[in-house]
Amino acid sequence: MLRDPEVVITAEPRVASQAEQTVGVSAGTAAVIGLQHLCQRDKPTTAYLMIGERCGCDCAFCTQSRSSTARSHFLSRIVWPPYPLPHVLHAVANSFAQGDIVRCCFQVTVFPGYFQHTLSVIEQLHALSPIPICTSIVASSLDAIQALLESGVERVTLALDAVCERVYRETKGGDWQSRLKLLRLAAERFPGRIGTHLIAGLGETEQEMCTTLQEMVDRGIMVGLFSFTPVPGTAWASHSPPSLSSYRRIQVARYLLATGTCRIEDWSFSPTGQILSYGLHPSRLRELLADGQAFETAGCPGCNRPYYNERPGRTIYNYPRPLSTEEIETAISFALTELSDEQPMISPVPISNDHETRRSQA
Ligand code: SF4
Ligand code: SF4
Repeated sequence: MLRDPEVVITAEPRVASQAEQTVGVSAGTAAVIGLQHLCQRDKPTTAYLMIGERCGCDCAFCTQSRSSTARSHFLSRIVWPPYPLPHVLHAVANSFAQGDIVRCCFQVTVFPGYFQHTLSVIEQLHALSPIPICTSIVASSLDAIQALLESGVERVTLALDAVCERVYRETKGGDWQSRLKLLRLAAERFPGRIGTHLIAGLGETEQEMCTTLQEMVDRGIMVGLFSFTPVPGTAWASHSPPSLSSYRRIQVARYLLATGTCRIEDWSFSPTGQILSYGLHPSRLRELLADGQAFETAGCPGCNRPYYNERPGRTIYNYPRPLSTEEIETAISFALTELSDEQPMISPVPISNDHETRRSQA
């Protein structure tokens, strides 16, 4: 999500600003941890908190970006009203103890002192509760990532968002290669504790997305997969989201790669980079997708992100819960409808039945 770090660790004691005395809480999270009443069909299973408001970066798709005119308490489609920090941390700790949530995720924007402040918030929560903590944050070095892990973070997410240099330049304006390099080094130094976010629909081809997905899987980097969602007030407000069939193909791709069922070398693509075949017989592919897990939200264990990419009652891109039989059928038909009929047979690797094991692989 974030790019271009500022200075990471400051030794100077700082006086907490008004914004630092509060934390943004996603509306769904606020309801689950008891801060407000909200009737919701699909509740978040992770507490989503936002540290900081308007960001120093200027990503074209982001409501928090420097030039966005969206209301400042929005991130993606979600409203994140601020609440007093100590109150929220205690509510998160209590909700975890009661089994209402399984994880806490801090989304951090770039503002003066953001890194030091995030360390302090994480230390406070870690002292209150053994809840697994993850954070999506700009970190400029391995030392910074190590500091986060030592402060109590279970997983650090270094969001690439864009899957290739060209799209990164167009949407985020920074240096994709240097972000990728840090991600690779971090995955090597801190195996199993590093993740990234990838957004489908920013102008990449499906082949470009699959190539990056394969690399992330090979390096043990957990992928939180998002669909681009145009939001009023952002530079990309009038761009279209990816077509549902394209997103379903990408979800299938991520799932097949993450479960080790096959590799991108087995697949074929059209001249414009659209997936034509996963190298599996259609009946085998249907069998592999029959439980619908490919279409559920992908990310850290327990991350279901309800309504990040969709409005209640509208088409669901990432299902925050197991799908109904009808939903599975529809999702599979969107995924398979434009595949080539000429699919060669290969012997797929059997996959585990353990949902969480699969989840933890990507
Ligand atoms: S995605 Fe938004 S919050 Fe993240 S770096 Fe870009 S502008 Fe900042
Ligand atoms: S995958 Fe989910 S829990 Fe993990 S950092 Fe991303 S939003 Fe947070």
